[in-house]
Amino acid sequence: MDAKEILAATRRAISECAGSDPDRLFYVNRFVFARLQVDERKTKTKIKKELLDADSPSCGYSGCTHGGSIESRRGIHLHRRNTTRGYSRDNCVLMHADCHTKYHAEHPPVPRDETSDVDERDAGSAILEKESKRYEGQRFLYWWDLSPGSLDRLDRYEAVEFLKKDTGERCHVPVPALKGYLTEERRTNRHGGNWGIKVLKEEEDQLAFEPGVKTDRWLYLPVVWFHEEQED
Ligand SMILES: [Zn+2]
Repeated sequence: MDAKEILAATRRAISECAGSDPDRLFYVNRFVFARLQVDERKTKTKIKKELLDADSPSCGYSGCTHGGSIESRRGIHLHRRNTTRGYSRDNCVLMHADCHTKYHAEHPPVPRDETSDVDERDAGSAILEKESKRYEGQRFLYWWDLSPGSLDRLDRYEAVEFLKKDTGERCHVPVPALKGYLTEERRTNRHGGNWGIKVLKEEEDQLAFEPGVKTDRWLYLPVVWFHEEQED
């Protein structure tokens, strides 16, 4: 089976399992989605730990502004040398978060190969970090705004990391998935028509996309929150 066939088979299996129960469909879909995210995360965590535990771990970016050495375990990213390959020990190097961002700014992704069965084959592998403080006395607990101007920039990244500043918890949303939620009708009237992404009270296992000026419906994306400390 190729990737598209696996996706189609998975959709069928989820649909058969849920039958005509929309709540079950929602639950099963979320469960599978979340577990696959965790699987990928575990692979990355293991490789990152091995590289960090090596003798004098160093930054793989040739223009590293931190002298090349890695002193702290925080704020360190995994970078895939060959972006058409996955996360493996020999295809990965460590980079400081800012070095990683610079690397990908200097090496924009090559255009996608339309014949490929993997949609994100050539996407960048950097993570764009977005931080939110905790809000009190509101219907929501965290709030990130994305400006329309940042949409093109998103293509340089593999995923956006939403970070809760107070707890250090973070979740990753792949850029192609995120862009599906950032539609014209969902733009708000803040600044240049920013999109609003929130974590609502009592609904912390999902990101809530604000209705824009042209709709009154919230959209929800299930996410898994991680602690960087737990990965070490
Ligand atoms: Zn560096």
